[in-house]
Amino acid sequence: MDNAATTPMDEEVVNEMANLMRNSFGNPSSIHALGREARTHIEKSRKKIAEYLSCSPAEIFFTSGGTEADNMAIRCAVEDMGVKRIITTTIEHHAVSHTVEDLWHKNRIRIQFVNVNVQGHVDVHHLETLLQEDDGPTLVSLMHANNEIATMIDLLTVGTLCRKYNAYFHSDTVQTMGHYTINLKEIPIDFVTCSAHKFHGPKGIGFLYINSHVKIKPLITGGSQERNMRAGTENIYGIVGLAKAMEVAYRDLPAHQQHITEVKNYMIKKLREEIPGVDFNGDISDKSLYTVLNVKFPTTPDSEMFLMKLDILGICASGGSACSSGSNVGSHVLAGIKCAGDRPSIRFSFSKYNTKEEVDKVVNVLKGMFEPQVV
Ligand code: PLP
Repeated sequence: MDNAATTPMDEEVVNEMANLMRNSFGNPSSIHALGREARTHIEKSRKKIAEYLSCSPAEIFFTSGGTEADNMAIRCAVEDMGVKRIITTTIEHHAVSHTVEDLWHKNRIRIQFVNVNVQGHVDVHHLETLLQEDDGPTLVSLMHANNEIATMIDLLTVGTLCRKYNAYFHSDTVQTMGHYTINLKEIPIDFVTCSAHKFHGPKGIGFLYINSHVKIKPLITGGSQERNMRAGTENIYGIVGLAKAMEVAYRDLPAHQQHITEVKNYMIKKLREEIPGVDFNGDISDKSLYTVLNVKFPTTPDSEMFLMKLDILGICASGGSACSSGSNVGSHVLAGIKCAGDRPSIRFSFSKYNTKEEVDKVVNVLKGMFEPQVV
């Protein structure tokens, strides 16, 4: 129940990658036959991915994952596109927020935060006010779907607004790639990011989409891979696995969306029935990220131990963003929506492999934790 952190790999993806590992080991930069064969696998994958997103293969640049892709977009926008102001929120993933903060500490940019409401929805009117204030080189960085509280922005609305005021637009789409149809031909946007392990692909591979109108230089320098935009021998198995994961995801998308939505709604219903006082953080409407459910439980004396207890009872969930679970730091996203910290909040997140039977099991365990103990 922690699929926003990562998902199990799909058998079809594993088979595709294992087959390639056995049969192809060339370096795609080599000009001999083995190298050319490896290169073909990469370019076929790039083409396939571009087709799913309705963009040009030349706009896809493979990276080591979502974090690198976010870094590349933001840092290169400042370094190479003259961006001096970044408009963002306090509830972005750390891949974005820590990168923006780092640039601020180095005196490279000004930061402006767009207001978000108690659910975590971005105030688009406030965004427009900020954009109106100053027409200097600006990057707007707003995530498509929040990985902790499931709120979403409308990429078309924000992208259109950014174009109106000549601002560049970057969106961290790590939680929505492979889960929603994203048509980049219709959305005015400069950068979007992807991470394969969020939709049953392998870890350590992702990409940055860079709109062909935008010109940046590489973040990682060295060899001429990725058309001189990202040095380092390509992760050929990862790239092929990413393309396969995307193929499977988009092939089966309607069925998976329906299944996961049913599992999530079932969990909302069961929690409300079984645990008095339960509440939810963020958005739980049908406009929210359907894979994520952030639950606010009644106060318990040992709320610090809540996640650990669940773990001992065999349930994997998360207290916030995966990247900071394990450290004792509270969620900056829940703080950003002014959620009181006196009640334990747990993020459950679902994949196509979760079932209603699993929800029953989890709700039973949770119910037991809130029942008065008979001594
Ligand atoms: N952005 C979001 C919204 C995420 O949820 C994550 C992963 O937790 C990342 C970025 C980082 O992606 P990666 O694990 O591929 O570096």
